[in-house]
Amino acid sequence: MDQDFIIIGAGIIGLATAEQLLLQGATVTLLERGEVGLESSWAGGGILSPLCPWDYPEEVTRLTNYSAALFANWMDELHTASGIDPEYERSGMLVAPPFCTRIAQQWCTSHGVRLERVSPSDVCSSPPMGKEINLEGDALLLPDVAQVRNPHLLRALRKRVELLGGRVIEQCAVSHIVAGNSQVSSVSTAYGTLCADRYIITAGAWSKQVLGQHALGLDIKPVRGQMLLFKFSATPLRFILLQRDLYLIPRRDGCLLVGSTLEDVGFDKGTTTVARNNLLKGAQELLPALSGMAPVQHWSGLRPASPHNIPTIGCHPQLDNLYINSGHFRYGVTMALASAKILVNELTGLDQPFDIAPYQSGWGA
Ligand SMILES: Cc1cc2nc3c(=O)[nH]c(=O)nc-3n(C[C@H](O)[C@H](O)[C@H](O)COP(=O)(O)OP(=O)(O)OC[C@H]3O[C@@H](n4cnc5c(N)ncnc54)[C@H](O)[C@@H]3O)c2cc1C
Repeated sequence: MDQDFIIIGAGIIGLATAEQLLLQGATVTLLERGEVGLESSWAGGGILSPLCPWDYPEEVTRLTNYSAALFANWMDELHTASGIDPEYERSGMLVAPPFCTRIAQQWCTSHGVRLERVSPSDVCSSPPMGKEINLEGDALLLPDVAQVRNPHLLRALRKRVELLGGRVIEQCAVSHIVAGNSQVSSVSTAYGTLCADRYIITAGAWSKQVLGQHALGLDIKPVRGQMLLFKFSATPLRFILLQRDLYLIPRRDGCLLVGSTLEDVGFDKGTTTVARNNLLKGAQELLPALSGMAPVQHWSGLRPASPHNIPTIGCHPQLDNLYINSGHFRYGVTMALASAKILVNELTGLDQPFDIAPYQSGWGA
């Protein structure tokens, strides 16, 4: 593709978009306000599935399933190219009650997703799953749910983008977009005015700010999520463990992540004692091995929230050379590859894997 692109925002979405464009032969410059991959994409848990996938509309399922099917190969390629292991692991996810078994089973059957019903005694008989889990009734196991370690994935992807010839400029905030005659002519940045043939907004929770008067009716806003990290000498869980909105994610090295909150507090990225105590209490009730332990780290991130968790992907309705890939809310890591691919298909005229109209209606009337 003989075109050059400026991509604004270097989280997982900006990096994945850059990678897919570079693979098509485009010239790509990524502009990042701070350092690459240190916002929402760094803060997240790295579960490669919606929490209870049956709770979401088909528009979410299409993107997450398409991505999830490609993730293992993508991670292999990134690992090989960069030498950095994103720690992709099909650890499975155990959903603890309460849930509606009928809805979960129907959804899994109609989407070809494996689901097993497991009793508390089944769980306890498979250490290190193990004796310690407090289950009040049967649980549901989604054995094919995978996870990645976000900071590793982001470093691998950045390296891959640079190896493919992408240019990454950090500490380069875009202050506004200069447009006229249905086109963007340049962007004003900390490094002065920069120009390209086409521009893509991937600024996560800040996407509306970057668009300024061109945001139209776009409904993307920050929703804070807080996380706790615990360290065990060996992993206390084999699967990701989920109960309602609370999840525990075991890493290979004995780290255990506990998340998360959903807080509408604007761009405040602080952490709170209330959230820490609630997460800790919920996690200790599910996994008594956590009793008496204190988290070694506590952080938050700002998710790019959008209605029904449906991101906006595609061309701006008024500016021909402006595109967006943003609003992935709770599942931007999972959706990253699918979203990047469908945007690049649109840019290059390639066939789409499914109807992408639902991702182009986020600009409002
Ligand atoms: C606590 C938590 C847990 C999560 N868990 C999961 C999970 O398990 N699975 C999953 O799939 N998803 C999860 N998510 C969601 C996922 O992390 C996000 O959907 C995803 O990271 C969004 O990626 P992004 O690249 O759009 O945003 P970001 O990672 O926030 O990147 C946007 C980038 O744009 C930059 N930027 C902003 N303004 C400007 C500007 N003016 N100029 C230049 N650059 C700018 C920012 O500095 C930032 O680096 C979680 C999120 C949180 C917070």
